[in-house]
Amino acid sequence: MTSVAQTMNTNNHHASIPDLIAKKRDGHELQPDEIKQFISGLSNGDVQDCHVGAMLMAIFIRGMSEKEICSLTMSMRDSGERLKWPHYRGSVVDKHSTGGIGDKISIPLAPALAACDLKVPMMAGRGLGITGGTLDKLESMPGYQTQLTDEKILEQISTVGCGIFSQSLKLNPADRYLYAIRDVTATVPNNALIVSSILSKKSIEDLDALVLDVKYGASAFMKTAEQAELLAEWLFKVSEMLGMKTCCYITEMNNPIGFCIGNAIEIHESLDLMKYKTGHSKDLEELVCEQGGRLLVLVNKAETIEQGRELIRETFKNGSALKKFHEMIVGQGVSKTVADQLVGDDETIVSSVLKLAHVQHQAIALQTGFVQSIDSFKLGTIVQRLGGGRLKSTDKIDFSIGIRLLKHVGDPVQENEPWAILYANDDAFRRYPKYLEDLNASLHVSSTPVEPLQRIHKVLC
Ligand code: URA
Repeated sequence: MTSVAQTMNTNNHHASIPDLIAKKRDGHELQPDEIKQFISGLSNGDVQDCHVGAMLMAIFIRGMSEKEICSLTMSMRDSGERLKWPHYRGSVVDKHSTGGIGDKISIPLAPALAACDLKVPMMAGRGLGITGGTLDKLESMPGYQTQLTDEKILEQISTVGCGIFSQSLKLNPADRYLYAIRDVTATVPNNALIVSSILSKKSIEDLDALVLDVKYGASAFMKTAEQAELLAEWLFKVSEMLGMKTCCYITEMNNPIGFCIGNAIEIHESLDLMKYKTGHSKDLEELVCEQGGRLLVLVNKAETIEQGRELIRETFKNGSALKKFHEMIVGQGVSKTVADQLVGDDETIVSSVLKLAHVQHQAIALQTGFVQSIDSFKLGTIVQRLGGGRLKSTDKIDFSIGIRLLKHVGDPVQENEPWAILYANDDAFRRYPKYLEDLNASLHVSSTPVEPLQRIHKVLC
């Protein structure tokens, strides 16, 4: 382990790393060159995991000024290379969410946008806390590669139009490092860290337009609409400073999105939308069409949001988004045979690729009435603790864990009627003894009719 004295010796023209941590711990503003020094230290070996954990906690507790957030975002962006799309000017778009339960919007959205002739170089994230990660979900398809070289990203975007990939040693290595440590040091829900993490990724992508989905509610990092509005304002301000045309949605995240929560099970649900199957989630469809439609408006490919929504919906109805999804996953390492099976009509074959855990528990309603809410925090916690998420950065995800909801907010429900199925493994009880109690306590029933969910609280454009 490097001692304080050693650190000071090797960097005698700079403050030492412990000095920088102490400065933040004591509530002082870090200067741009100090933030740059810390971020550079992640790759040159000056900064160790223990330094990162301490600095993250100091930032979490003390917060950051606007100047510090901008410096952190730019230092993270500049920790690696940047993508450039001179041939596709006016067509390069992306969307990113602050994280939710059942939030699979990006998975059908990227191919739908590519089917509308846009280019979508989507640098996504892994699960953070109880919220699921797009990359983890995609990896439940055998062979899917999230780490792509710059050359491969270029080829994928030129030939297919969309790719969903991760940070790497070359692309935003700083976020890759900080993200993994935030996840396991209780330092995720902080405006400075969320803004810098999201916008450092997005500013590497050389975008013409960006839609951000800032979530609030029991299972989001922002618990109230007011907190989410503040985060959205920060995201908006820093995006503007970075020259990105951005629109922020503020959306409800007390109830899960769609019917499925987990990794493999959410890919299955995304495929159901792309196949426009009877019974696909309308909740998911509306969010995807809204955010995709907004991007079409932002790059002048649609005149109104209504027209934008319909153009996205059409890609699901006519199969063009599904075709792009097939091309995308084959481009990213899934064999053609597996991709054919996934986009095919035979549900038994799709389920044999996207396997679910073999122990099924049905959750039963305890009273008759109307579904008032479904506690996405409890359900997300069950999936995470049973192995569908991480508690340590080295944890391997069990893609087969999942929950299928049989009811949505507003639906009528009878006493003793099943309202959800949990797919678990034999060791579930050992992993999380409260899982059945939490599952049963997640449904709230009202004796009077309940209005269906309104997800969108506000749009800042
Ligand atoms: N998504 C990210 O990429 N980073 C965060 O901090 C939260 C959500």
